[in-house]
Amino acid sequence: MEYFFNFNKLGYLKEKKSKRCILCAIVEGSNDVDRLIVYESEHIIVSLNLYPYNPGHLLLIPRRHLTDIRQMSVEERASMDELTRQCLDHLDKVFKPSGYNIGYNQGLAAGGSIEHLHLHIIPRYQNEIGIAELIGGKKVLVQNPLETLRLLRQEFAAQGEHDKKGR
Ligand SMILES: [Zn+2]
Repeated sequence: MEYFFNFNKLGYLKEKKSKRCILCAIVEGSNDVDRLIVYESEHIIVSLNLYPYNPGHLLLIPRRHLTDIRQMSVEERASMDELTRQCLDHLDKVFKPSGYNIGYNQGLAAGGSIEHLHLHIIPRYQNEIGIAELIGGKKVLVQNPLETLRLLRQEFAAQGEHDKKGR
C-alpha cells in the first residue's frame, strides 16, 4: 500500500548536530536509530536508509568504521556479497521492483554524505516519482518506512527458520 508520506513527521529524523558517525551509532544500537535495523550478521548490518529514495531502499553497513572498500576483510566481503543476494530476494518478494541500483558512493565528491562505508540497494519502479520532486518536495510517494521494516524483518526471520531446517 503506497500513499503520500511526510518525512518531517517521523520521530527518527532528528537533526544530528554531533560529530559522531551516524552509521557507528546504528551499529552500536543507539536509541535514535536502532529500530531501522532489518537484519544483523557478524560483520554486516542491514538497515533501512534514514532518507529512503524509494520503498525498500536499504543500506548494508560493515560494523567496522571503514571508509574504503579495499579495507574490507575477506569475511566482510563474503558477508556483504551474501547479504546483497538475500536482500534482493526479499525485496523481489515484498516490493516486486522492476530493477535495482546497487553501489557505493565512496568519498564526499562522489556523493557519499556519510564517510562510513555502506552499500546502497535501491529498488526501482516503473512509475516512481521523479528525482526532482523527491528532492524538492516535502512529500514523497513511499511506503511508511516502519511498515517496510516490519515486512523485511519478517522475510529475514522466515529465511532464518528455513536455513535451520536445511536446504
Ligand atoms: Zn562509523
